[in-house]
Amino acid sequence: MMRFLGYPSLRAVGCPSQRPGETSGPPEWANRKLFEAVRPIFCDLVSEPVDGSITSHQKARRGYAKVSSQMNHERFMEEALEAARQALIMGEFPVGCVMVYEDQVLVTGARHHSAPQGQNELDHAEMVALRRLIDLGEGIDRAKVTLFSTLEPCLMCYAALIINGIRHIIYAYEDVLGGGTGLDLTSLNPFYREMEVTVVSGVLRHESLALFKQFFSDSNNEYLRDSLLATYTMSV
Ligand SMILES: [Zn+2]
Repeated sequence: MMRFLGYPSLRAVGCPSQRPGETSGPPEWANRKLFEAVRPIFCDLVSEPVDGSITSHQKARRGYAKVSSQMNHERFMEEALEAARQALIMGEFPVGCVMVYEDQVLVTGARHHSAPQGQNELDHAEMVALRRLIDLGEGIDRAKVTLFSTLEPCLMCYAALIINGIRHIIYAYEDVLGGGTGLDLTSLNPFYREMEVTVVSGVLRHESLALFKQFFSDSNNEYLRDSLLATYTMSV
């Protein structure tokens, strides 16, 4: 079934939820009987997942996200949350992530150097995990790796992830200040335009939000204090 998801004619299947102007009716490659048999499957695939919203560039990619939700998103996000809790204990901004391949966690990452001493904007959790993934060497199809992060990746991390072959990104809490996953790849040059990236949001959002509320409630934490993200976090 997965092979159908990237099929260019997926939009031609004709789900009731299709937008005005989209093609309706059976695709040319199927007779009516086959079309009626597969339509419920495709319609289910392109519906919104129960555990989060999707931002993606093509409806076909939304189908993948629906299927991949069966990987038990919450189980892996809980592991990312544990990394975030450890970061918080260390006085760091509470972002954690894991990279999953074939239903197993390959590497974890947590934010480093968010505190004033030695602060930088390179050691984000996703960058830490990405370096560890690369250190594992060849033999891993990165297109089949899924990133689970407790915070929406920033533009730096999003770009680093997709340039390094990661195509599936799932996050818990939206970053209204620096989140970069809304980048429209179709407006960029061909290298990026041809990437098919799936982004799912809102998995264990409440649990991640609680960590950020805890962080911003502590007056000892200076990172992003009084920022839009801090204000937003304390208001939701
Ligand atoms: Zn980042």
